[in-house]
Amino acid sequence: MASARLKAPRGTFDVLPEEGRRRLALRSVCHSLLDHRAGLEYVETPAFEDTELFARGVGEATDIVQKEMFTFEDKAGRSLTLRPEETASICRAYIEHGMHKLPQPVRLWYWGPFFRHEAPQAGRYRQFTQVGAETLGSDDPAADAELIALLAELLEEARCREVGLRISSLGTPATRRRYREELGDHLRRHEARLAPAVRERIELNPLRAFDSDDEGTRAVMAEAPRLVDRLDEGDAEHFAEVRARLDEAGVGYVVDATLVRGLDYYTRTVFEFTSGALGAQSALGGGGRYDGLMEQLGGPPTPAIGWAAGIERILLAADPEATGHWGSTSPPRVYVASSDPAQARRAFALLTELRRRSVNAQIEQAGRSLKGQLRQADRLGARFALILDGEGGLELRDMRSGEQQEIGSAADVERLVDPEVSGW
Ligand code: AMP
Repeated sequence: MASARLKAPRGTFDVLPEEGRRRLALRSVCHSLLDHRAGLEYVETPAFEDTELFARGVGEATDIVQKEMFTFEDKAGRSLTLRPEETASICRAYIEHGMHKLPQPVRLWYWGPFFRHEAPQAGRYRQFTQVGAETLGSDDPAADAELIALLAELLEEARCREVGLRISSLGTPATRRRYREELGDHLRRHEARLAPAVRERIELNPLRAFDSDDEGTRAVMAEAPRLVDRLDEGDAEHFAEVRARLDEAGVGYVVDATLVRGLDYYTRTVFEFTSGALGAQSALGGGGRYDGLMEQLGGPPTPAIGWAAGIERILLAADPEATGHWGSTSPPRVYVASSDPAQARRAFALLTELRRRSVNAQIEQAGRSLKGQLRQADRLGARFALILDGEGGLELRDMRSGEQQEIGSAADVERLVDPEVSGW
């Protein structure tokens, strides 16, 4: 019986070499910007956590917790969940390792796989990769402005097309509660003009009415009170200061009072970057403040803000012309070939020596004849071939001119293949 062909699970994908090179290039951009230039510190947390962390940290009522978690029991019967996002884990780690005792704020970045049980489509997968940044222990608008500007710069350096930024402020939970009631009253007053689906959700989630495509509903929403107009003085000042800093730094945005993010824990600033070059799944990344989350998870009061962006979507939105080189291979500088199989061990020693000297080198591994090896070197785009003959002699061949010269050692090779010395 023929066995069934094995495939990657639904909603997951393999990263093959060309895409692997593109991802490494993007990771270098993140490393350079977030770590080297902005001084955020890289951290990792486990890919799975106690389920309770997400129930408490993401919010019981969110789509993520209600429908999208990969939850399983370990052998001791404890409930574990593959992480659907990082912020809750970062807070857990901050509390667990007493990071509140460090000079504040603590500024972190991460990169890794995340898991959500969603209906797969272009740009939406069940395992995807996020890069993210979090600033913990600061309520200064400087932290908000910095993180937003960093994500804007990251998307710029990744050459994402048609990027738009929307920002808003959600105020405090108390402001939000009062606003929900006011919005609910407005919706009930105009109930007859609303789409049935919106009418049914007035009590449950009146904010969703802003997302409706229905004409009658849209007309009602155009006259609806806006949360950004109901912020208390402190929140309004904070939001104005964040905007002023973005203006001053030339980071473009629009204020979108209807911006509601899918997570419960946000307070004050929220933001989302989208790309017009993506289809329905147009969100590249976003985030916001979560000033109450640390306490909710049992930690000391710690205002904080963060964002996460999807690597697969950034790469889909990246201009293929501007980032074409990301996918190309870097050919070996030297291909080590030998005319006699008896020289294989010495050839290997030379290869190792070259690599120790930081020369990009590869070696024959398919038993080809010398001619075949030189053809392979050519195919790989090697600039030089180091040829060992049966008597232990060494020759360096310039693969472009075909010129060959005798040499003595790996040190000679290193010198000769150095573009500055050889001029090649
Ligand atoms: P969120 O925490 O939902 O705002 O996600 C942040 C970013 O992660 C989104 O803007 C997307 O770029 C990316 N993302 C979220 N869910 C998925 C998914 N299922 N597949 C691919 N990317 C995702």
